[in-house]
Amino acid sequence: MEKNIAVIKGDGIGPEIVTEALKVLDTVGEKYGHKFHYTDVLMGGCAIDATGVPLPQETVDICLASDSVFLGAVGGPKWDTLPGNLRPEAGLLGIRGALKLFANIRPAKLIPALAGACPLKEEITKNGLDLVIVRELIGGAYFGKRSTTVDENGVKTAADTMAYSDYEVERICRVAFEMARKRRKKVHSVDKANVLDSSRLWREIAHKVAAEYPDVEFQDILVDNTAMQLVRNPSQFDVIVTENLFGDILSDEASMITGSLGMIPSASLGATALGLYEPIHGSAPDIAGQNKANPIATILSAAMMLRYSFNLGKEADEIELAVNSVMDAGYRTGDIMSEGMKLCSCTEMGDLIAAKIRT
Ligand code: NAD
Repeated sequence: MEKNIAVIKGDGIGPEIVTEALKVLDTVGEKYGHKFHYTDVLMGGCAIDATGVPLPQETVDICLASDSVFLGAVGGPKWDTLPGNLRPEAGLLGIRGALKLFANIRPAKLIPALAGACPLKEEITKNGLDLVIVRELIGGAYFGKRSTTVDENGVKTAADTMAYSDYEVERICRVAFEMARKRRKKVHSVDKANVLDSSRLWREIAHKVAAEYPDVEFQDILVDNTAMQLVRNPSQFDVIVTENLFGDILSDEASMITGSLGMIPSASLGATALGLYEPIHGSAPDIAGQNKANPIATILSAAMMLRYSFNLGKEADEIELAVNSVMDAGYRTGDIMSEGMKLCSCTEMGDLIAAKIRT
């Protein structure tokens, strides 16, 4: 198989972690007979420096013409004082919109060798923790009508509208049910239907889609209860589907209970196979250029790309197994280092994972 991948290395640790992930991808490619062609494109702070804007049109065009988009991270203090529409993060929102990526997929999985980094008690995590949050990404309160007004008495009021249309709910629910079919066949749909109209529509449509997937166990759950259950009994979850704002909060909570920011990948998907793959962490300017960053979240994002955009499940498994095996052997970057483990650099971690795949 041959695939064209648009690569956004970005800012801070972005170039370091992406280099390691591409090293791992090429190793898998060599082993299984695939060829990945990379085209470097600019986005974020480096794009502002080179072109004056965070998302040049050329980047959008190349991403749209590619089979997939792979991203390190963008942003940094150098660009923090720019107006909102010219900041590196505007590039991130812009590319998601331009590629019509409406589903954000964030797995939260406890790697056994890192169980010590999990802040939950062992009696809670002994049954394992392996869930995926499917978050609606381009609707709800973040994209609804907003206003700030001052009335005649000087009272200032701000409002953000959480609006969803039936088709938006239906397409994200389908992503969740399809994903559940490839996993443990269980979907929780999260809403606040006891209070919000948008959630009542969400629930109605979620039930309609669920009826088409009789092989998948389905349950509604209120968002407040979900927040509680994630720390009380996270093993009960397989796939959680929810709207944008609830998903933003719950996915950070779920990431936290697995231990380290440097370990968690993500995928943003739309209606086609073209997806955007990136680690959940930022550009870590405090350690940029020091060869200290943990490349594993980015390497696992490459595994997600193989699985979801290229349908190469076996190759994705190979990367995930190699990561587990290097963890089991006791190698750690600084962010996940603990007593008795072997400290290694970003480059060494990439080399170890690639070498494991080769053997
Ligand atoms: P951050 O995730 O970059 O860093 C938070 C802390 O975690 C830092 O101490 C950092 O050193 C550490 N860290 C993060 N990733 C690591 C890794 N792979 N290995 C080792 N340590 C790691 O968050 P921040 O400091 O709040 O933000 C820094 C910049 O990144 C900001 O400009 C922010 O806007 C941007 N950001 C970008 C994205 C993105 O590109 N998707 C996401 C979040 C933040």
